[in-house]
Amino acid sequence: MLKWFNRQEETARVEKGLDKTRQSLFGTLHKFFLGKRTIDDSFLDDLEDSLISGDVGVKTTLEIIDRLRERVSKNAFTSEKELIEQLHETISDSLKSGMKGVETFDQFMEQVSMKKPFVILIVGVNGVGKTTTIGKLASRFNKLGKKVVLGAADTFRAAAADQLEIWAKRAEVRIVLHQDGADPAAVAFDTVQSALARNEDVVLIDTAGRLHNKLHLMDELNKIQRSVEKILPGAPHEVFLVLDASTGQNALVQAREFSKVVRISGLVLTKLDGTAKGGIVLGICNELKTPVRFIGVGEQIEDLRPFDPEIFVDALFEGTGKA
Ligand code: GDP
Ligand code: MG
Repeated sequence: MLKWFNRQEETARVEKGLDKTRQSLFGTLHKFFLGKRTIDDSFLDDLEDSLISGDVGVKTTLEIIDRLRERVSKNAFTSEKELIEQLHETISDSLKSGMKGVETFDQFMEQVSMKKPFVILIVGVNGVGKTTTIGKLASRFNKLGKKVVLGAADTFRAAAADQLEIWAKRAEVRIVLHQDGADPAAVAFDTVQSALARNEDVVLIDTAGRLHNKLHLMDELNKIQRSVEKILPGAPHEVFLVLDASTGQNALVQAREFSKVVRISGLVLTKLDGTAKGGIVLGICNELKTPVRFIGVGEQIEDLRPFDPEIFVDALFEGTGKA
């Protein structure tokens, strides 16, 4: 079984990446607790404000509050530490129930090993971190012994292919490039075809994300998807939608829009390191029945981490009294 990283290293990176979100969600928690032995409405109101301003989203926040109220009415607590434990478990339950039925990370990695080439199409609006994510994925798959090829199907801007080429060099993987303005579906087709011919393992296809002409973009993604399927039935095996966590609730809106035209099978949430809006991960897991596959916690090649709900929640609570 292919392992991305070891758990200990994982936890440390994610903890650090969530510093700002943790501060935003729970930084004022101590204040609410002062001298309390029961949770009263004012405590729940404070917590609600905190979760909503941390971009957890209204629906998920209310569910968490309800779950907490129920849990605490059943299990008495005597200290702040115990109450934090209850909150930790409540959020953990909420995340797990949101992810019920979705494929786990290990199952995803198993699929990668079973299909050759395994084709992943990467979509999302401009600037969210698609190209960077592809570079990080390529590097990691390469280190895991997979033969990787990148397809530069963002042919709209010359700079886009150049940027992907830089990542290909850095990750030491092959890249398929056409001229600027070439048909993105043709690039995707050629990339998969050449991967088949060379017996390569993983194909990562970059796409354009311009939104000013949404209809055109969505049409283009559809065409890319179809052309990949034509050369390799069943492909793309995954379509990852990249979302910038720092856009908070807007990320949810983008996810709904893209889902209307492409079959999104996994999400990548980038830039968690720079934002206090990381609570959006909880909202996304709860509201979209699509697994968060990776999280981006920095600009370095190793800053793409598999999303593990347990590690994520533990990291959120790190230092708050529970951990
Ligand atoms: P694209 O337009 O979707 O392809 O986005 P790019 O890959 O070009 O990334 C846009 C910017 O976001 C770049 O400056 C990246 O370095 C930055 N970026 C991407 N992922 C992360 C992340 O996880 N953390 C941080 N801090 N920056 C990121
Ligand atoms: Mg790009």
